[in-house]
Amino acid sequence: MKKVAFHTLGCKVNQYETQAMMEIFKKANYAVVGDSESANVYVINTCTVTNMSEKKSRQFIRRAKRQNPDSIIVVVGCYVQVSPEEVSEIEGVNIVIGTNDRKNIIELIDKSRFRDKIVTVDDIMAVKEFEELEINEVKGKTRAFLKIQEGCNQYCSYCIIPYARGKIRSRKEENIVKEVERLVENGVKEIVLTGIHLASYGKERGSEDSLVNLLFKLDDVSGLERIRLGSLEPTLFTDEFLSKLVKVNKICDHFHLSLQSGCDEILDKMNRKYISSEYRNTVESIKKAFHNVAITTDLIVGFPGETADNFKTTYDFVNEMGFSEIHVFKFSPKKGTKAAKFKPQVNSMVMNKRSEELIKLGKTLQKDYILKQLNSVTDVLVENKSKQIEGCVEGLTKNYLKVVIDAKEETVGSIVKARLVGFVGDKIIGEIEN
Ligand code: SF4
Repeated sequence: MKKVAFHTLGCKVNQYETQAMMEIFKKANYAVVGDSESANVYVINTCTVTNMSEKKSRQFIRRAKRQNPDSIIVVVGCYVQVSPEEVSEIEGVNIVIGTNDRKNIIELIDKSRFRDKIVTVDDIMAVKEFEELEINEVKGKTRAFLKIQEGCNQYCSYCIIPYARGKIRSRKEENIVKEVERLVENGVKEIVLTGIHLASYGKERGSEDSLVNLLFKLDDVSGLERIRLGSLEPTLFTDEFLSKLVKVNKICDHFHLSLQSGCDEILDKMNRKYISSEYRNTVESIKKAFHNVAITTDLIVGFPGETADNFKTTYDFVNEMGFSEIHVFKFSPKKGTKAAKFKPQVNSMVMNKRSEELIKLGKTLQKDYILKQLNSVTDVLVENKSKQIEGCVEGLTKNYLKVVIDAKEETVGSIVKARLVGFVGDKIIGEIEN
């Protein structure tokens, strides 16, 4: 049996696409092996969000060829889409595929026997159709990420993604529902809807309600316990959207609402489509609609031109929002984006210090949020045996808290009621509540 190994960089969408390509190889009688093992084919699913992710892609391409010099190296994804020549010139690369046309990967491998190199990179800006890749199972997992949307029309000044993924396009509702039904049959209890710009789901069809209509359809899938939404934009949360969202029974009361900065001057330079007061109103409306909601976010520190005052504004705004978790990224100029040319770039020492301060604040806010949950009884989706604590299992609440419970391994894959009694680090201790 021929062997294939995958190495995936980047986001949940990339991980979903790798899962789908894996299933294509399995259907073609390949055995999937780990990326440090010798394989006949290596598929590197690349990322281009930062210069570092491109460097890591190149490093793994070279490592794969060293692992088996006779192997076929297939490089796929965002880095290829924005720099096809650069990738196809890397020694040892046989096939390069952009962010479209991955479904024909086996045919391309067959063709590569007669050709030195195959380069198939579409003009992604001209692509109108959502490429249907599908998954059927996520072995041993109760939670599955589902890609339902592609592309982005936002053009934030620091982001290369619209150039790698093209214009917005959405998956057909019926295909999503069928996939969820298959996954539930294979033991999945929670699905996480993802996309490049999830908030744009269905917008190219001129319909404002596509996402919430889809959620109502998924709400009816029997056996599905939870629906979680991936990264979102505050602009999505209109009063009308919220008034419908609260009626989706299986929706998780956890929303990842990208903020990036709390300072309007910087938000404007980032070309973000909201100002801080609008973001504040959105958070307040969500907290009114979902009383115990967890709101998590992404922040960029050290954006070009960010002064100490700008940073203080962001810091105070983040503190005011009371996020349950924050992800802090240091600005890195990405070639091909507008912001890469913005002046002045912030000194790396200053950037490190600001990043540390926000991360520290994030930990305090997370602890405050966890403290408010103590002594409450909640549903925990048990996902696996605890790696740290003997005889315990670990799981996730609807509001995205990681809980360790003194329970038998047989509970893995089920939803149990637990009283939250304490915490160790970012893990909460739960006791089964009968
Ligand atoms: S919304 Fe902005 S940051 Fe997000 S993918 Fe689109 S351009 Fe990039």
